[in-house]
Amino acid sequence: MNIRTQLTLRYIGIVLLVLFAMYLYLGAMLKDSMSSRITSELEIQAALTREFLIEKLPAKGNFTYDAIDPLIDRLGKRSDARLTFIGMDGTAWGDTERDGAALRAMDNHLKRPEVQDALQFGSGIRDRYSNTTQTEFRYYAMPIYKQISQNGEGTLIGVCRVALPMETVNTAIGNLRRMVLLASVAGLILTIVFSVFSTKIITKPIEKLTQMTQSFAAGKINTRVPVDSKNELGQLSRNFNLMADRVQEQIDKISEEHRRLETILTDMGEGVLLVNGAFEITYANPMAISMLSLPNAYVGKALIEINRIPELQTLLQAAEQTETVAFAEIRLGNLTEPEAEVTVVPVATGEEYVIVIHDVSKERQLERIRADFVANVSHELRTPLTTIRGYTETLLSEDATRTKTQEQFVVKILNHATRLSRLVSELLELSRLESGDVELRRTPCHLNTFYEPILDVFEPILEESELVLKWEVPESLPKVSIDHQLFMQVLVNLIDNAIKYTPDSGTITVSAELRTSEAFEESNITSAEIIVAIKDTGIGIPMESQPRVFERFYRVDKGRAREMGGTGLGLAIAKHIVLRHNGRIWLESTLGEGSVFHVAIPL
Ligand code: ADP
Repeated sequence: MNIRTQLTLRYIGIVLLVLFAMYLYLGAMLKDSMSSRITSELEIQAALTREFLIEKLPAKGNFTYDAIDPLIDRLGKRSDARLTFIGMDGTAWGDTERDGAALRAMDNHLKRPEVQDALQFGSGIRDRYSNTTQTEFRYYAMPIYKQISQNGEGTLIGVCRVALPMETVNTAIGNLRRMVLLASVAGLILTIVFSVFSTKIITKPIEKLTQMTQSFAAGKINTRVPVDSKNELGQLSRNFNLMADRVQEQIDKISEEHRRLETILTDMGEGVLLVNGAFEITYANPMAISMLSLPNAYVGKALIEINRIPELQTLLQAAEQTETVAFAEIRLGNLTEPEAEVTVVPVATGEEYVIVIHDVSKERQLERIRADFVANVSHELRTPLTTIRGYTETLLSEDATRTKTQEQFVVKILNHATRLSRLVSELLELSRLESGDVELRRTPCHLNTFYEPILDVFEPILEESELVLKWEVPESLPKVSIDHQLFMQVLVNLIDNAIKYTPDSGTITVSAELRTSEAFEESNITSAEIIVAIKDTGIGIPMESQPRVFERFYRVDKGRAREMGGTGLGLAIAKHIVLRHNGRIWLESTLGEGSVFHVAIPL
């Protein structure tokens, strides 16, 4: 039921209620006033009749029908009332409604209640149904005293009774009821017309507001309600418009932001992918679509179904388990090298993940070109350098007569040529390691087998600079499967650095230990590795340089390193060899106190 019908019905209800109350009230009031009017009329009539009868009635013993009835009839002619005269014995001697035999046949009226009351109390009034006239009457009776003496005493000679039909009252009430009914019908019609119009005035703005809000809810956010009044409805409309303005502003802002984001996502070089908790794709930017060759209907599909890259799945699982950012290099195409850096960022705690794919194939290709170039140049430089060194050595070994300066020059040429050829061979080795050309010839060996060869290499220089080399590798260590020659290179490079950057009479300690850790708790697999530590009491490496020392050609103090004959490639080579063994290399160092280089090789 709409508000208009409700209001109309309510109006009608109220009017009906009022009319009904009026009907009851007026009816009762009218009945009262009519009845009291009748009573007073009866009283007047009765009084007049009594006066008349006192005068005209014959003496008490001489009552006859013929004497009294005409008297009564004469009196009654002048009014609508029925008049009766009743003698003391109850005989109705005269009556306006009865004549002759009928009058004589009337019952004894002494026992009529109004007559009894009149005799007892001086007057009697009763509403009764008259058998004589077959209608309802109001009777009023009064005793009649015939005056005998001058002092006012009289003898009771009979009772006069006046009666008026109650019909008049009833018809009056009936008339009134009809009138009220008519008024009610008219009122009702008026009410309906009025309420239809008045509710329209109230409900029209509401209906309009409802329509507008509906169309607003349906998405037409530029809908506004016309404000044409200052009352509460007008205020409501104004508030609605204000709210709509706010919503529009917010939506505009969000749309702008969305457009901006969309542009960024569309034009960026990285692939961006959104997946939900079940790893189903919810969004992919054009780059991601092309990188992963996604089909047209990719939204809602599980990533693993569309693109069978197990590494990507593993990465997602890692992000899910750790609830932190996961990163890996993943091969997306058919190339042998990892070609993309993929970052998985969990959003909203496991509800969603952002996958960012950075294509690094170009960088990798450039790196390969650079490595090839370095390898080629180094290779080409090797032969001329060997020749230069050969001739210089020959020159020096000859006993030819030379000036001292000439001798110095030749020595300088030889030194530089030697340094250069070391640099070239290190470069060559590094590029071979980087390109993966070097094949590992792994053999199980104990770390202590390196002790003798190391001593052979470093004993002279250790003695010269009064350094102590402590070898603290326990015999109990298990053998480790490594490429002997390459691992020797790692140790040589690290110990060589330790010697170079430790002042005279320092100590260099080589130690090793076995470390096991519960890597996968639920599968009960333990991972074990041997960790070698090369510790020195040297100059140390400043904090800011520590992350960079494994870069090729990086040297903390260029002048000093060159003086020491360093090329800046030693640590880079060591790092690559360790990585080829699936190991790790890291350092701890305090400036002025010394450094420790750790190498971990998995068993
Ligand atoms: P280099 O041939 O110059 O020694 P590396 O790659 O072996 O090249 O080392 C890189 C730089 O790291 C060195 O130039 C040196 O500054 C620093 N470094 C390496 N090892 C140590 C060490 N044990 N103590 C102090 N500095 C070191």
